Amino acid sequence: MERPNAWKKYTEKDLECLRLIGEEYRRFINLGKTERECAEEAVGLLEREGYVDLEKRIAEGTPLQAGDKVYTAVMKKAVLAFLIGKTPMEQGLNIVGAHIDSPRLDLKQNPLYEDSDFALADTHYYGGIKKYQWVARELALHGVVVKKDGTVVRLCIGEKEEDPVVGVSDLLIHLSQRQMEKKLGEAIEGEKLDLMLGGQPLSGEEKEPVKARVLQILKEEYGIEEEDLISAEIEVVPAGKARDFGLDRSMIMGYGHDDRVCAFAELKALTEIREIPEKTCCVMLVDKEEIGSVGATGMRAHYFENALAEILNLQGEYSELKLRRALKNSCMLSCDVSAGYDPLYADAFEKKNAACLGRGVCFNKFTGSRGKSGSNDANAEYMGKLRRIMDEADIAWQTAELGKVDLGGGGTIAYICALYGMEVIDSGVAVLNMHAPMEIISKADLYEAVKAYRAFMEKA
Ligand code: MN
Ligand code: MN
Repeated sequence: MERPNAWKKYTEKDLECLRLIGEEYRRFINLGKTERECAEEAVGLLEREGYVDLEKRIAEGTPLQAGDKVYTAVMKKAVLAFLIGKTPMEQGLNIVGAHIDSPRLDLKQNPLYEDSDFALADTHYYGGIKKYQWVARELALHGVVVKKDGTVVRLCIGEKEEDPVVGVSDLLIHLSQRQMEKKLGEAIEGEKLDLMLGGQPLSGEEKEPVKARVLQILKEEYGIEEEDLISAEIEVVPAGKARDFGLDRSMIMGYGHDDRVCAFAELKALTEIREIPEKTCCVMLVDKEEIGSVGATGMRAHYFENALAEILNLQGEYSELKLRRALKNSCMLSCDVSAGYDPLYADAFEKKNAACLGRGVCFNKFTGSRGKSGSNDANAEYMGKLRRIMDEADIAWQTAELGKVDLGGGGTIAYICALYGMEVIDSGVAVLNMHAPMEIISKADLYEAVKAYRAFMEKA
């Protein structure tokens, strides 16, 4: 039952493909560090591949036919792409879905203050983080500031070589006796994850001169007033680029593999489909998974079925019944990262049901925690079908469970899509240090995920 290591089967050609995909992926996550940036990257990639904005097709009213390629962006934070297949949509789609939001610190709406000659900014963390991992390291500011007149100012500070970085301070070890006695989860408080933004007073300013100097810079360089921060989304993320990891360069260390590695693999797989597929293929890149798939851009919103309705309509096929049938008859891979087995924390895993880096794309029949709570438990029949598709396409794959039964767990978007009555299973790439500022994946697993998602879209 042990799954073989994928590296062992690779030819020189495989290794070259894998290296190139790794490079392309690193560029993708370097440019897409927020859901907005990632959505923009995805749209750019899709347009280069001939995908047309669905809104444009709706406005034109031109019928959609097999082989047509459309996408829709949801409030600039989520993207759906469709490659129209030969069979009528009511027979179902083959869907791969990932999320493009990642854990981070968000600036509060009234963030700035001055204390002891420092300018600081309050944050509210987003998603599940180990707070101690986010202090004493270089961070960058990414986001948008929207002014009252609707002008959008984009920020990206801390990524260029010559850019300054920002960060959250930590107490020196010399004075940490009390802090070190605290539990890991309590040593750093969320309210203390305040960002240091400056330390030079503005000359001639009496009241809060250091904060005034930071505001002066924001005004001069970006045209932003303090009040504009009320209508801003500024995300604080690890600064710097993703790098090859390991002396053998077999892995990639970077921010936001969860879940942009699956997002990238889906997009790459879609663009590699050369012939018109039997079923319509759909790539979903959704937002807000890390906080429960809430809001208008999270999976719980209805943009997916709305887009399907529009497509059916452009095919001259729309009816409520056909829409429901299309949803019910679909197959989906809910593509999200899985916990990679870590030999340093072996006691957190049940080894023979853990995902190992380098053993290929993972299939998690169920997720959830403590008695599968909150899980989508995929049907055995569906798993059987996927085994056949994967083996016929010579994909390296493995099965996985998040960790030991009583230790915790997690969820994905799978259970939400399953509500339509479609077959759904979790499938993804194994990650080490999940939700840490820098996570690790194996290039082999990325390579296998691309091939697996393509085989699924073409054959399921
Ligand atoms: Mn995830
Ligand atoms: Mn996550």
